[in-house]
Amino acid sequence: MSRYAAIEAEVSRIDQSGLRRRLRRLQMIDAVRGVLDGAPVTVFCSNDYLGLAFEPSLVGGGGGVGSSRLISGNRWAHEALEERLAALYGRPATLFSSGYHANLALMSTVVGEADVVASDALNHASIIDGLRLSKAGRVVTPHGDPGGIPEGARMAVVEGLYSMDGDVLDLPAYRGEHWLAVDEAHAFGVLGPDGRGAAAAQGVEPDFVVGTLGKALGCYGAFVVGPPCLKELLVSRGRSFIFTTGLPEWVPTRALAALDLANDERRARLSDRVRRLRAGLAALGIPALGRHHVVPIVLGGRTMDVAQALLERGFWAAGIRAPTVPAGHERIRLTCSSEHTEQQIDQLLDALNDIVRERP
Ligand code: PMP
Repeated sequence: MSRYAAIEAEVSRIDQSGLRRRLRRLQMIDAVRGVLDGAPVTVFCSNDYLGLAFEPSLVGGGGGVGSSRLISGNRWAHEALEERLAALYGRPATLFSSGYHANLALMSTVVGEADVVASDALNHASIIDGLRLSKAGRVVTPHGDPGGIPEGARMAVVEGLYSMDGDVLDLPAYRGEHWLAVDEAHAFGVLGPDGRGAAAAQGVEPDFVVGTLGKALGCYGAFVVGPPCLKELLVSRGRSFIFTTGLPEWVPTRALAALDLANDERRARLSDRVRRLRAGLAALGIPALGRHHVVPIVLGGRTMDVAQALLERGFWAAGIRAPTVPAGHERIRLTCSSEHTEQQIDQLLDALNDIVRERP
């Protein structure tokens, strides 16, 4: 009997249920083209919405910071980026090593055992894990339904743009006595005035905003914005802030420079590409969810076949399966970048047209 029999048995159960996840190696050539396991592809599933991960004018110096920011790892670049984000939102910002760390710290510090929190049914795993850590009572509200927020709830938590459904909720309807936390991971940099997110686009100032630097800014890391007391709480109590190494200096340096380039011109180009892709899909009779740059097409059981057929034609758009999305609602989550050319979008549409015709 192998020493690791229990682990091997679990992997084999995952395998048998068809849910084994495999890493594919993608070497990028520019913002949207790459080589996937040796084959050239145009990528339609990255969150680098503004093409800034490949912006040649962006460079950043400085290596690892050697410890938590609270020990010897706090640098000018961290503080400069926090100040820049604070100026953008008009309230203090606190940097985190990732969106996952940010949600863990926010959720587990602002609420506790005595509180009830309303969490939208489609919220990201990092929100769910943060709420579990907080030990607060969690009421899962049906997606997009603020009516499910219980009387006396301390906080409601939603996302700005849902990553798997591509939709934006009616955020004014979520305001109330309770605090409102909005995770703008997929909207920051893209939606709203100055890219502040979906809440700002609807004129809502949530109590707490989470934004990530790893998506539209093409970098890494994340931040939380809220009242001044929140920053104090996160720095003193946020375990995923305190007990982890600060971001390497080049990260906030690069993110600062990327913020300058995440401008209205790039956002307008992205909107243009989104319109083209969505209009093309509609013309092909392929329904897509949402209205923005995340363009999920729900294909159910055909998802992986269609993804494979797209790959054979040189388009990389990963299929999203259960349990990330509910069984029967498997989808290809297409994402647009401002750096996709019109021709690349049209070629993707041609490929989808062929595939859909071949496999009705
Ligand atoms: N929140 C949401 C809504 C996300 O989609 C993600 C990333 N998929 C995260 C948080 C986590 O961000 P990061 O990748 O920076 O950990």
